Amino acid sequence: MHVNAYAAPAAGQPLAPITIERRDVGPNDVLIEIQYAGICHSDIHTVNGDWGPQPFPVVPGHEIVGVVTELGSDVTRHQVGDRVGVGCMVNSCGECTNCRNGDEQYCLEGMVGTYAGTDRDGSTTQGGYSTHVVVDADYVLSVPAGLDAAAAAPLLCAGITTYAPLRKWGAGPGKKVAIVGLGGLGHMGVKIAHALGAEVTVLSQSLKKQEDGLRLGADEYYATSDPGTFEQLAGRFDLIVNTVSASIDVDAYLGLLAVDGTLVNVGAPAEPLSLNVFSLIGARRSFAGSMIGGIALTQEMLDFCAQHDIGADVEVISVDQVNEAYERVLASDVRYRFVIDTSTLA
Ligand code: NAP
Ligand code: ZN
Repeated sequence: MHVNAYAAPAAGQPLAPITIERRDVGPNDVLIEIQYAGICHSDIHTVNGDWGPQPFPVVPGHEIVGVVTELGSDVTRHQVGDRVGVGCMVNSCGECTNCRNGDEQYCLEGMVGTYAGTDRDGSTTQGGYSTHVVVDADYVLSVPAGLDAAAAAPLLCAGITTYAPLRKWGAGPGKKVAIVGLGGLGHMGVKIAHALGAEVTVLSQSLKKQEDGLRLGADEYYATSDPGTFEQLAGRFDLIVNTVSASIDVDAYLGLLAVDGTLVNVGAPAEPLSLNVFSLIGARRSFAGSMIGGIALTQEMLDFCAQHDIGADVEVISVDQVNEAYERVLASDVRYRFVIDTSTLA
C-alpha cells in the first residue's frame, strides 16, 4: 500500500511531501487510518540529527490517533471502526525480562521505534505524519470515547512520558512536585500531577506562561531566570520532573530537592549533562531518567486521562505548516502541542 506522508529528506532539511509504502496487513496487524499526529520535540531532535545519524528520509510522528480500517486474521483486541492510538514503540521481543514485566520500552533486544527504527522484519519504520500505518495489534492502544481525538494524540508520548515517572515516584496527596519546562511534556506533567493530587509547581524560564500554568493545575509558578527562585525553593520538592529539551544546570535543580528527593530527567538534549555528586550526597538525593512507558501503563494513562477529562491543549495545523511549527517549538513558542490534521495529506 502506498500512502501520502511528510518526510525530512536529510538531516536538518525541511519536511516535504513523499509517498511511502506500508506493509501488507499480517495476521496480528491492524491497519489504521490516521486522523491526528502530534509533533513531539523528539521528532525535531531526530530530524536535526541531535541524537546521531538516522536513516533518511524519515517520516516522524509517534503521537498517533486514528481508526482501525482492517484487521489481521488473528487480532481479537481491536475491531474495525475502533478509535486507537500508537505511541513511540511498535514492537519489541516480547520475551525478555523487561518485556515480560511490562517494560517493553526497555526491551533487552531494543524496542522498535515508531519511526527511524528497524522493525523485526528488517524494514525501517516510518511514523505518523502520514495517512495510514500498519502496526502489530499488541502495540495499539484503545483511545477511550470521552477523549477528543486531536487532544488525545499527544497523550501517546507526552502523556505517558510524564505519567510514568509521576506514578513510579509516587506523585500524589502530600507530595510536592515540580515540573521544569512548560512545553508539550511539561503541560501534560502539570495536568497529570494535579489530577494525581500532588502539590504542583512549574519552573519555567520566565513568567510569560504563568496564567496558563495555574489554569492547567499548578499551585505555584516560578521563573528560573530569577536566581532568587533557587534560594527561595531550596530543599522544597519530593520530586522534580525535568522536561527541558536543552541542557540545564543539574546541580541547581538538585538543590531544590528535599532529603530523599528525586530529579527525574525525561528531557533528552543532544549534549551530556554534568553533575557534582555533592549535590546528591548532601541530602541522599537521586538523579534518574525515564523513557516513555510500557503498553499496559500507556493504556492505564489513557483511561486515567479519560476519567479525569484530561487532554492536551493543542493547536491543530495542516501538514504544510509543519516546518513553521518546528521553528515555533524550537523557540519555546508552543501552547502546548502542535497536532497535524492528517486529512490534509489526502
Ligand atoms: P517542548 O514542547 O519544546 O518543551 C520543552 C520546554 O523546555 C520548552 O517549552 C521550554 O519551557 C523549555 N526549554 C526549551 N529550551 C530551553 C532552554 N534552552 N533552557 C531552559 N528551558 C528550555 O518539548 P517536548 O516535546 O515537551 O520535549 C521535551 C524534551 O523531552 C525533548 O528533549 C524530547 O526529546 C524529550 N522527550 C523525552 C521522552 C522520554 O521518553 N524520555 C519522550 C518524549 C520527549 P519554558 O518555556 O516553560 O521554559
Ligand atoms: Zn515524543
